Amino acid sequence: MNIPASCKRGLMPYAASVTANRTAGLFEPKNEHLVLALQNAATKVNMHQLLGPSRIIVVDMEYLEGDNSFEANKKVCRQMRGGIAAIFGPVSEISRAHVQGLSQAFEIPHLQAAWDARNPREDFSISVYPDHEVLSGAYADLIKYWKWTQFTVIYEDNNSLIRLQKILELARGEEFTMKVRQLQGGTSGYISMLKDMHEKLEYRMVIDCSVEKVLDILDAANSLNMVNDYFHFHFTSLDISQLDLDRFAQKGANITAMRLIRPSSPEVVNIYNEWANRESNTVRSPLLGMRAIATETALMYDAVNLFARALSSLSNQQLQTEELQCGKKETWKKGANLLNYIKSLEYHGLSGKIRFEEGRRKDFNLDVISLTNKGITEIGSWNRKSGVNISVTVQQQEQDDLTRLRNMTLRVVTIFDPPYVIKRNTTGENGRYEEGFIIDLMEELSKSLGFKYEIYEQHKKAYGSEQKDGKWDGMIGDLIERDSVNKADLAAAGLTITYDRARVVDFTMPFLNLGITIIYKKPEKKPPALFSFLSPLSIDVWIYMIAAYLCVSFMLFVIARFTPYEWENPHPCNEDSEVVENQFTILNSLWFTIGSLMQQGCDIMPKAISTRMVACLWWFFVLIFISSYTANLTAFLTVSRMDAPIKNADDLSKQSSIKYGTLKSGSTRNFFKNSNLTVFKRMNAYMEANADSILVDSNKDGFERVVKSNYAFLAESTSIDYQIQRNCDLMQIGSDLDTKGYGIAAPKGSPWIGLISREIVRFQQQQVIQGIYKKWWVDQAGKVCKTDDDEDAAASAALGVRNVGGVFVVLAGGSIFGLLVSILEFLWKVGKNARKDKQSFWSEFTEELRFVVRCKSSRNLSADCGKSRKDTDAHNGVRYSPANTMPSFDKHRDVLE
Ligand code: GLU
Repeated sequence: MNIPASCKRGLMPYAASVTANRTAGLFEPKNEHLVLALQNAATKVNMHQLLGPSRIIVVDMEYLEGDNSFEANKKVCRQMRGGIAAIFGPVSEISRAHVQGLSQAFEIPHLQAAWDARNPREDFSISVYPDHEVLSGAYADLIKYWKWTQFTVIYEDNNSLIRLQKILELARGEEFTMKVRQLQGGTSGYISMLKDMHEKLEYRMVIDCSVEKVLDILDAANSLNMVNDYFHFHFTSLDISQLDLDRFAQKGANITAMRLIRPSSPEVVNIYNEWANRESNTVRSPLLGMRAIATETALMYDAVNLFARALSSLSNQQLQTEELQCGKKETWKKGANLLNYIKSLEYHGLSGKIRFEEGRRKDFNLDVISLTNKGITEIGSWNRKSGVNISVTVQQQEQDDLTRLRNMTLRVVTIFDPPYVIKRNTTGENGRYEEGFIIDLMEELSKSLGFKYEIYEQHKKAYGSEQKDGKWDGMIGDLIERDSVNKADLAAAGLTITYDRARVVDFTMPFLNLGITIIYKKPEKKPPALFSFLSPLSIDVWIYMIAAYLCVSFMLFVIARFTPYEWENPHPCNEDSEVVENQFTILNSLWFTIGSLMQQGCDIMPKAISTRMVACLWWFFVLIFISSYTANLTAFLTVSRMDAPIKNADDLSKQSSIKYGTLKSGSTRNFFKNSNLTVFKRMNAYMEANADSILVDSNKDGFERVVKSNYAFLAESTSIDYQIQRNCDLMQIGSDLDTKGYGIAAPKGSPWIGLISREIVRFQQQQVIQGIYKKWWVDQAGKVCKTDDDEDAAASAALGVRNVGGVFVVLAGGSIFGLLVSILEFLWKVGKNARKDKQSFWSEFTEELRFVVRCKSSRNLSADCGKSRKDTDAHNGVRYSPANTMPSFDKHRDVLE
């Protein structure tokens, strides 16, 4: 390597009176920027006489052709023979390790600006690069700040793993799910790795690679359409600001990193301008065409300045270099002193404050940067004490997102299912072929957030379920896969928020609440039964009532016989009559009680306290009984009771005559698949066994099947409400089996979901959603099905013959029975009189019949009728002989005597 003389001996020609503090620089040709930074820094130190007017730094530069200790050893020994106060570089691992060993052995301070994870480092070797452990902790802090629980770590080599150590340690915590991938070489390697990540829904990644590979990786991701709003690429390189990332700025992806060198700091601006101007001169700039100063370049500049400040505090004697021989044991006696000075210094350089703790640079600040429309922008900072501090507020972030959203046309996947989305034949007011609840909701969202949207129907008309291979179908699949055709930014339909789906996509707040329920045909109405007037009381009560009637009648009969006050003289004018009568014969008792039961009363009235008491209590019983009967009667005369064969899911699961099922693919089907409750497990087993014949492709098919056959459909209450308001022959069976909600879904990490979600909450609060719901569920229903109450009310307004027919039947039956009994009585009487009058039955029958007929035809004969009738035993009472009954009633006996 041809090294310019100025390089070999420092950049400043110096006079004999000036003391030169000789140092050695060892670098590989690829690290030319470090050489330039070192020389530039030394020149500036000398120019500004930082070491005083008579001292300068001289850098003797050596180039290392390869990464080997032999070459490094040879070149360092050559430098030592001339006497050196410090060694800068090299960067390559093997040479560096060897130089560190030599510096330790000969006690010559070794300063470096490259990342070095050797731990513990040789004492005499000191690095201004941030300590690798603290730096790794900063990366981990950022992951924690973002609350990433699922992410992928991509590493390049073993050093990457050391750099990512603290992030990898996060995986020990249960809340983090981390995948680790090694970067595959070349564009094809990047593409196959990123493709796999896309398929496996790995949207967030931390990439540790050299800065040179960053653009290639992003280009590969871009070719796969992955540099979009849903992906987050975080690079651990501190040099991202050097790159031209403008072509990715509008793509929407989150591209972030951290940096040590802040381009806007005055020191950096000065040096940058100075170096940038050199570009036009013959001397090359350490920037070497970069957009910003590379971290290691700035650190080399800082290392030289740090060294210079240490030199300036020591006298010439304290810095007297010695000519050392590699083969000998002598060391540089002043080296340790100089090293201690360097370690104790605190200096503010291009990379911020430089201060050493235990020989390492642990106290440093980092900027958190992100690619935005304005290019690479600082969004926050990190330091060891206060951790991550993101200065972009949530409000600012939202404002940025909103501004971007306003210029966007979102692709919305849906399923045509009334009333959520309905296909029109002509365009509506909004110029769309679709209408429905969801379209109105999207219109409201688009109005308030200012975005445009285009709707397309999911090609398989499926909502989305996880397949056996872990992939998702339906609308959820379209959000995840995002291939060139089936690529959606939002899924808006009657899409249920479920735990499984929320793992792979983001949902807004629910806009409708619902639950799974059963829809089935209303049972046929039965006309009221002929004897429905008996229904108000159960059979048991009727039987008890008859028993009570018989018992009370019999009691009355017995009590009346016991009590003397019911025995009366049938001829009150004849006080001497020895005959007393009791009106409560068994027949009269039965007549009295039935008379009160029918609320008619009769001419037999109790006279004794005991019988009156019984009568009183019977009337009370009758009062309550008749009131209860009357209160219930109307309902039973009018309600045509419906007997649904099933009343809930349990009934459905236990029978086999009614078939039942759900949608083939959807949250309802999954509800049964995942349930642990016995009833639902039983239903699932049935559905599993008969899947082909009972599961349907769409809600429409399900509802049609309910109407046409003996089939119960398990669907969501909102869809069922819509159907039963339009088809009065259908009804909901039982209550909801669960509670959940519909939400709008977006790919994981979508920046729009928060904004849309917030709008949905506002719509809920301002009752916009209720308005849309009413429009589609109620107002559009047209006819309103009558409820059972309505029908009952209408029926009770006018009772038809059907309602009270039974009463007529009883009346007719009773009348006929009465007629038959009267005929029997007549015949019996005829027979009796015939025997008495010693006439033939037929002559007596003819005579009596004639009398009856005559009696009926002439009112005037009625008196005769009674008179002439041979009524010899018309006496109803019981004749009483005091001699053989009731001897104990003295009073009575007195009367009788
Ligand atoms: N809303 C359901 C879903 O998102 C589809 C209907 C159903 O499964 O009943 O999967």
